[in-house]
Amino acid sequence: MVPEVFINFRPEDRRDREGYFFILSGPSGVGKNTLLSSVLSGLSGIYYMPSATTRAMRPGENQMHPYVFVSIEEFEDMIERGQFLEWKRIHTNDYYGTHLPSIQYAIKHGYDIITDMDVLGCADAMAAFPQHICSIFITPPSLDELSNRLHNRDTDTRNIEKRLERVELEMAHKDKYDFALVNDNLEQSAWELRRIIEQVRNRVELTR
Ligand code: ADP
Ligand code: 5GP
Repeated sequence: MVPEVFINFRPEDRRDREGYFFILSGPSGVGKNTLLSSVLSGLSGIYYMPSATTRAMRPGENQMHPYVFVSIEEFEDMIERGQFLEWKRIHTNDYYGTHLPSIQYAIKHGYDIITDMDVLGCADAMAAFPQHICSIFITPPSLDELSNRLHNRDTDTRNIEKRLERVELEMAHKDKYDFALVNDNLEQSAWELRRIIEQVRNRVELTR
């Protein structure tokens, strides 16, 4: 069954202001999920916001991490019920969608959330919650390195080709983001990302 809110928030993490929604974008394989894991283990009180998807689970993944995996029927039912801020069919035509009730709940109740999204989804989110979004674009050190990372992660050539086809589209949106970060040395990039998030979370003028 699909949960009503995708995150189990702990009351002690609630801030005395509305919640922020941090979004990481960048070409598939650049390291968004790797950076997210690193950042989430180093910061307290910020929650990973899983998207819903119909794509198959990869080894090492499980329900809610990094997605809420649903059937095509469940996903289409959620579309009908207006449960998505945005949804897209990406790569091999799988559905990916951002769960609107979870975001509304987090913002209203003062919880900070973070997720990754493709550039078009992020643009939709920025339009819907302009005051509550911090957008961060992750770029690869080079296209060769991006291709290496995709090959190391997945052996399915068709999957890799589909992801490489979207690189130009993703990169064209980089300047619309609040921050851009090159993911070269993982430790350094994770440190910089944590610093950005901490600064934004503590910004006085954005409190209620
Ligand atoms: P995304 O979430 O952007 O699709 P992943 O986080 O799945 O990308 O990373 C893709 C692959 O690249 C993974 O195998 C990951 O271990 C590797 N990777 C991520 N960041 C780095 C880095 N800075 N240097 C080398 N490899 C990396
Ligand atoms: P995958 O995880 O299958 O390698 O990559 C999926 C792609 O879809 C990535 O570019 C990721 O950023 C994007 N994505 C993940 N969740 C969502 C979502 O809810 N909405 C949109 N529009 N894109 C998503």
